[in-house]
Amino acid sequence: MVFNLVRSAVTRTVFRKTVNPFVAINKNRFSTHDDGSSDGGICFELTEDQKSMLDLAEKFTKDEVIPKAAELDRTGEFPMEIFKKAHELGLVTETLPVEYGGMGLPLLDHCMIAEKIAYGCTGVGTALSANTLGQAPVILFGNDEQKKEYLGRCAAEPLICAYAVTEPGTGSDVAGVRTKATKNADGDFVLDGQKMWITGAGYANWFFVLARSNPDPKAKASEAFTGFIVEADTPGVTIGRKEWNMGQRCSDTRGITFEGVVVPKKNVLLTEGKGFRIAMGAFDLTRPPVASGAVGLAQRALDEATQYSLQRTTFGRPIATHQAIQFMLADMIIGITTSRMAYMRAAYDFDHGRRNTYWASIAKCLAGDVANKCAADAVQIFGGAGFNSEYPVEKLMRDAKIFQIYEGTAQIQRMIIAREHFQQAMGQ
Ligand SMILES: Cc1cc2nc3c(=O)[nH]c(=O)nc-3n(C[C@H](O)[C@H](O)[C@H](O)COP(=O)(O)OP(=O)(O)OC[C@H]3O[C@@H](n4cnc5c(N)ncnc54)[C@H](O)[C@@H]3O)c2cc1C
Repeated sequence: MVFNLVRSAVTRTVFRKTVNPFVAINKNRFSTHDDGSSDGGICFELTEDQKSMLDLAEKFTKDEVIPKAAELDRTGEFPMEIFKKAHELGLVTETLPVEYGGMGLPLLDHCMIAEKIAYGCTGVGTALSANTLGQAPVILFGNDEQKKEYLGRCAAEPLICAYAVTEPGTGSDVAGVRTKATKNADGDFVLDGQKMWITGAGYANWFFVLARSNPDPKAKASEAFTGFIVEADTPGVTIGRKEWNMGQRCSDTRGITFEGVVVPKKNVLLTEGKGFRIAMGAFDLTRPPVASGAVGLAQRALDEATQYSLQRTTFGRPIATHQAIQFMLADMIIGITTSRMAYMRAAYDFDHGRRNTYWASIAKCLAGDVANKCAADAVQIFGGAGFNSEYPVEKLMRDAKIFQIYEGTAQIQRMIIAREHFQQAMGQ
């Protein structure tokens, strides 16, 4: 019901022909002066549709995520019920194109929704938004038939999908992927190899899998790999045990083994040899929402630390009145507001059909570092209580760490930013 209301409200004004596959390019959505006009200049106002979508996400977080977060952290249970409710409300289908049953919202809206949910629990946030990572290769590079089948499925039902690129032997160095794809007599492909740290693997209905299709070790990365859509129930796919991680414990992370897994040629994305580009290209869509998730966590750390600092007294006054505490809070605010602007810029460029790799890496890197600093400072402001798992900030500190690791580590983001910088400096 709520889904339909929001959807119809959004549909009326938003959905238009797009440049990017799922994004309605509508200037008024991004430059929203009160009279609805757009002069193409900078405008930080949200539209009425965005405001109601965010109200919905905030209410959902308050009612469904926050009350369950501590228990999910303790048990590591996958938040399937939350996922199903989010699906019903359109909070996990907003990135899917309208023509395949999704909401077709701009990436900016998705990021802002992801920030709200992450505020409640980034374990739940990752469990929900990892679907976008699995779907991104299909959204950006799939043909109509593949989109109808695999995106359509995710829109129609609360199904999980996953992005399987990392392996036990290689993560940052994606060109080191060793899972093999060999063509059989029918022209289909046979996959053999292992993947590791795959979010959602235990619940996935299908995977995006990157495999090496050219055995020549001298072949360029841009030609040596192929991207496949693999049904999770294909014979030869074995899912490993749930990994028990430092944080975000209700998000499911596992290894996968592929042994003689036959993938029909119709499930090749783009064409043979284009997998590396697909796997990397997906990050332009997914790094801004990862950054926004980190911002959600940082905002929670700030709010918890602020409340505590107003209540806790030392030396006869609230610790909020000590300048050292105020400066920690001020640094949190600086980090949060700038990383929020960075993810918005990254999403904005994507939504306008511009290459956003530079901004996506800036946003992901900054927000990941800021989330870690804010969580650590929140623990500091809580003093001894900050170190205790009965208080909320200890979880935030454990949950924050992964933002500097997955979807490209903090070091890899800096390498990308430097590469893009020098390309610009050299006029390329
Ligand atoms: C909880 C979790 C969920 C994940 N989900 C997924 C998923 O859904 N799908 C998926 O495919 N993968 C996933 N990953 C994998 C993740 O993306 C990788 O762990 C990450 O990219 C780092 O790779 P690695 O672990 O192999 O570390 P390595 O690449 O071995 O790096 C080790 C260290 O060396 C640094 N380093 C590496 N190369 C350089 C360099 N050239 N210069 C400077 N420093 C360098 C890294 O920054 C890091 O600090 C997940 C991981 C975790 C922990």
